[in-house]
Amino acid sequence: MASTNDNKDGLKMIEELTTNAQQIQEQVLQQILETNGGTEYLSRFINGQTDKQCFKTKVPIVTYEDVKPYIDRIANGETSNILVTEPVVEFYTSTGTSGGLPKLIPVTAQVYNQRVLYFLLSNCLMNKQLGDLDKPGKRMQVLFAKPETETAGGFKARTVLTSLLKDSWFITNVSKLCTSPIETLFCSDNNQSMFCQLLSGLIQRDEVVSVGSTFATVVLRAIKFLEDHYEELCSNIKTGRLSDWITDSGCRNAVSLILKPNPELSDSIRNICSCESWEGILKKLWPKAEYIRGITTGSMSQYVETLEFYGGGLPLVSSIYMCSEAICGLNLEPLAKPSDVSYTFLPNMAYFEFLPVNKDGATMSEQIQSEPVDLVNVRLGQYYELLVTTFAGLYRYKVGDILKVTGFHNNAPQFQFVETQNVILSVESDKTSESDLLKAVTEAKTLLDPLGFILRWYTSYVDTSSIPGHYVIFWELMTKEGDDNTKELDPMIMEECCYKMEESLGFIYKMYRKENAIAALEIRVVKQASFEALMDYYVTQGASVSQYKGPACIKSKDALKILDSRVIARFSSPRKPKLL
Ligand code: AMP
Repeated sequence: MASTNDNKDGLKMIEELTTNAQQIQEQVLQQILETNGGTEYLSRFINGQTDKQCFKTKVPIVTYEDVKPYIDRIANGETSNILVTEPVVEFYTSTGTSGGLPKLIPVTAQVYNQRVLYFLLSNCLMNKQLGDLDKPGKRMQVLFAKPETETAGGFKARTVLTSLLKDSWFITNVSKLCTSPIETLFCSDNNQSMFCQLLSGLIQRDEVVSVGSTFATVVLRAIKFLEDHYEELCSNIKTGRLSDWITDSGCRNAVSLILKPNPELSDSIRNICSCESWEGILKKLWPKAEYIRGITTGSMSQYVETLEFYGGGLPLVSSIYMCSEAICGLNLEPLAKPSDVSYTFLPNMAYFEFLPVNKDGATMSEQIQSEPVDLVNVRLGQYYELLVTTFAGLYRYKVGDILKVTGFHNNAPQFQFVETQNVILSVESDKTSESDLLKAVTEAKTLLDPLGFILRWYTSYVDTSSIPGHYVIFWELMTKEGDDNTKELDPMIMEECCYKMEESLGFIYKMYRKENAIAALEIRVVKQASFEALMDYYVTQGASVSQYKGPACIKSKDALKILDSRVIARFSSPRKPKLL
């Protein structure tokens, strides 16, 4: 897409931004305060003053819940300067939830320019690493726009990706470099969309220079779909006739333009796919692909091994760290191993502050009582919680992510993504905290009370051994009369318990369940004293008996084996939870 000169300019820009990180951060804050100091929100605290010191001492550090009343007023159509002077043009719906619904993040026109810039810079880095500026080729990117909603005030509310895919800049400049016709990304039926995107990618397999999606999970879902549908895809390619169940007119029209009878291509794809092992399948199907794109850091790191298995040695590329609130960091070494990936913050995107946090053993403990530090003042090896002050009306806002400083590029720090605060279970972009899980378990176990069962212990983990992954909740039960839980558990009631738990989980979880991107939650009942055996294990690993609380989520393979070897029954609900 970029010429050699554009690429040079892009790389030069990264050097300049990272070299002048401090100065640029000061300018960004100054600009935000000068523009928005008179808003209802900021004037409550700084009353027209725009100096940094005043900002730091008077503007509070907040969470979404603190600013939600202001955001809701904008979403409901109030037009006065509530949070931001520039007009709000739409809202991003974040995967973080508030009261069970996605958070709404205000977007101004400036955000659009920033995301184009970030996209271009990220591309320059790929070009530099692969030296493929002049190589022709297409990307097979499996992407899905999600349905948009409208706020009471008439604003669009949609995901960052949906907004990007509908941007005319994307449609004109990027979409033509991808194998998926743009219409297939907008199809509201995910199965039809996936089928057509894979079909398009297979038809153009000799041109494909990279495969991927946004997150590792989506790539794995595509592979699973391919496994289930390759026969049908091959027969479509052989006959040049699209399956009748593809009824979406956008998909049909777009795919018909590239689908021609090609028995030879169909045979070679069928030969590859009918092999017993799918190890290296991506490399075999798309022999010119040089890498797999898709985020594999943070909660996505649980999928690295599986993706490597299918990738056949193709490097995994996580190029960007961003959230609905702000674009944050770029990976300057896109071909680095997932465990070595760090994101370099570019100082022109937002004003960033970092609240030091203590890392205590495997879990984050209480925050050190200290002040947030500026971008250029973070310390190597230290863990921080990210705060952003944006051009679009968020001030000292806790994103909820924990990052670790791994180095510097010029004067800009590089961070490894550690975890999302308080999230213990995540298959996709769902975020389930310890308290969400407790609530779900508490609601489900009410069904067992009348039957005389008591839930002694529970814990959880994400099973990613199958695609899609799913939540597993281990339960150890006892009866009120004694310890004997071998008494038959009623499968109908246990399935209902699974259903109740899923009903209690957040909107994003249920949305992915609806799309089959997360499989049904499973309760595994373990025999008596399993959790004592688990505790013995943790004690051998150094846990203190007197302080032992039991993990809300199992991370260790050995601990998992202890529980899995004691499972006496497994249940899941055939019904999916209702979205609302
Ligand atoms: P959303 O606001 O719904 O787009 O979700 C953004 C969140 O996704 C971030 O706050 C992170 O928790 C997570 N995320 C985004 N990019 C990455 C990345 N490169 N590595 C790990 N987690 C990420």
